[in-house]
Amino acid sequence: MIEAKIKQTLRDVADFPKPGIIFKDITPVLHDPILCAEITQALALQLADIKIDVVAGIESRGFLFGLALAQELKVPFVPIRKAGKLPYKTIQQSYDLEYGSATLEVHEDAFKPGQNVLIHDDLLATGGTVVAASKLVNLLQANVAAYSFLISLDFLNGRDRLTSFSPNTFSLAK
Ligand code: IMP
Repeated sequence: MIEAKIKQTLRDVADFPKPGIIFKDITPVLHDPILCAEITQALALQLADIKIDVVAGIESRGFLFGLALAQELKVPFVPIRKAGKLPYKTIQQSYDLEYGSATLEVHEDAFKPGQNVLIHDDLLATGGTVVAASKLVNLLQANVAAYSFLISLDFLNGRDRLTSFSPNTFSLAK
């Protein structure tokens, strides 16, 4: 089962990036090309009943499977990046972190009005990052069709913050 394989392969790193945090390190997953292919297929299978026009991946770990998933679904891929990285005209959305804030950006022509966008990231924690990404999608008059993650830390209740954008949140492992 894919959930068990992901959990066996992930590495929990204690006290990264700060004391008290147990970081889910997905780099061992990337070492296993068969598992990577299985993950891409499993992500696509979860979305089989949902109309998706574009996959948007969040910098940086959301790019890894986001592009693979877009190719599997045969739709375009859009990178949502941290401030100051995208070369063309952008729109921005700031969001609060535990200490301070961060800003996400996307090119202003990344989505067409009415498009159905899947937002992909490696991990859902509090949901703050994907809420900011969702606001970027809506600012360009596109819809959030669904969210997909490799891992969701459901004890942080991030899913509850996403329902006002889309009822569809999928993860392969909890
Ligand atoms: P959130 O905004 O609190 O949901 O945090 C999710 C964002 O932080 C995602 O972009 C993740 O890549 C990153 N993140 C938070 N915790 C972890 C972790 O344990 N492993 C990998 N990424 C993490």
